[in-house]
Amino acid sequence: MFKVFKTRFEQGYRTMKYPKEPVVLPPSYRGLPVLHSDCDAEVVNKCAAACPQDCINSKNGSIDLGRCLFCGICERVSDGKFVTFSQNFELGSAQREKLITSTGSLPDLAAHSKKHFKKLFGRSLQLRQVCAGGCNNCEADINVLATPAYDLSRFGISYVASPRHADGIHVTGPVTRNMKSALLAAFEAVPAPRVVIASGACAISGGPFFGSSEVSAGLDSIIPVDLYIPGCPPHPLTTLHALLRFFK
Ligand code: SF4
Repeated sequence: MFKVFKTRFEQGYRTMKYPKEPVVLPPSYRGLPVLHSDCDAEVVNKCAAACPQDCINSKNGSIDLGRCLFCGICERVSDGKFVTFSQNFELGSAQREKLITSTGSLPDLAAHSKKHFKKLFGRSLQLRQVCAGGCNNCEADINVLATPAYDLSRFGISYVASPRHADGIHVTGPVTRNMKSALLAAFEAVPAPRVVIASGACAISGGPFFGSSEVSAGLDSIIPVDLYIPGCPPHPLTTLHALLRFFK
């Protein structure tokens, strides 16, 4: 027992101060892209051709963040002339179409969140995580939120084992053909009014598997989605920011 107290004393308080204090992420982190509208059309075309996700529209110079893997190829190919990635991890959106940006900015999530959700779930939100064919990257980074560093439950948000105990589902993965019925069963088991969150490029748009007949064309092609959290996988801070901004 003494050893436990000693260790606790030595380790101190490990939970981050966010959102009361800002967090500085490592320089290698790729967040919200900054798009340079004065970039040469030829360079934009080169980036569009190099993008593995086909998510750059060379006509208007926009990027679809719901499809983007944040791989950084476009930044490298354009030598930073078309796009550079900022450290801004605030990427959540309540509307799918707002994830297509040509300005490098997203609307404030709080302004688009549903008022009755805030009233119902602002103090207590229980979510059931549903992995609908994901590679476990998104799932692992959601798990991180339960660690002492993030301590998600201090905000009254937690993940539960049964959809019957949940206020909503947090879906990851491209919704493979084999997982579709299980996803729908989990969705139906959540009592209304229920929240649906699509996390990661796969759940939002099919990710690297888009166009395949084995996956969906995005979760919102199957059930209505309330909150989109882009990334591959979304950084835990992106998820935390989106949950707090949308529900609190
Ligand atoms: S970072 Fe996104 S937009 Fe750029 S090449 Fe990769 S997938 Fe395409």
